[in-house]
Amino acid sequence: MRTPLVLGNWKMHGSQAFARGLAESVRARSGEFPGVRLGVCPPYVMLPIIAKALDGSSVAYGAQNVSEFAEGAYTGEISAGMLKELGCSYALVGHSERRQLFAETSDQVVQKLVAAYGAGLIPVLCVGETLAERQAEATGRVIEAQLQPLLSHPEADRLLAALIIAYEPVWAIGTGQTASPEQAQEVHGDIRRLIRARAPVAADELLILYGGSVKPGNAVELFAMPDIDGGLIGGAALKAEDFCAIAAAAAASKRS
Ligand code: PEP
Repeated sequence: MRTPLVLGNWKMHGSQAFARGLAESVRARSGEFPGVRLGVCPPYVMLPIIAKALDGSSVAYGAQNVSEFAEGAYTGEISAGMLKELGCSYALVGHSERRQLFAETSDQVVQKLVAAYGAGLIPVLCVGETLAERQAEATGRVIEAQLQPLLSHPEADRLLAALIIAYEPVWAIGTGQTASPEQAQEVHGDIRRLIRARAPVAADELLILYGGSVKPGNAVELFAMPDIDGGLIGGAALKAEDFCAIAAAAAASKRS
């Protein structure tokens, strides 16, 4: 039995006051969504204020990125240990914006994942194809290539039992264009099959989130799909009302 997760990715938005207000609004309503886990990923510098705002609540928080290195002369980087010390539960790794804008490779992403896991964080590994790749019918190959460094890692069994995967088609992120529930389910099912071939037990327990223009109006249908275990939410996570409506959709779709 997989407990759905609705995780907000706030990207580089807001201010300290905005972050506190948003976290407090989500916290105030967090009891309304039975059977759903909630989390938010603010910008790094807002983590301390979020830790305070969510202290003692069931809403978890995490970072949008993490260094692959534990410590040292890596100017501008933040280690997994530092995030753990701030009370983070999650670390996103391999978000498509990191891959595209900051040239992160799938090998590097798995190093980040291993660093996050090693510090006791739950890594959320993001994968997804571009529009050109989808149009070239290369979606399956692209996702498999993104997962390959993980699947061939010597610790793969342990890592696969401890992480979350987010399928985020790049063409659906921030575009208002969502994958249809059937398109998303097809890829989620393929991801679970790939993982099953390497780690059969972990595959059934693995949370696979969908991300890409999830809104209150499309969340129920997406979350009703058998291999969609919640969402990674960008734009809609910046409004407590929308984020909570998506959490309600997760609660409703997994109940029925
Ligand atoms: C994201 O960036 O992780 C995301 C899913 O964004 P949006 O919901 O805005 O498409």
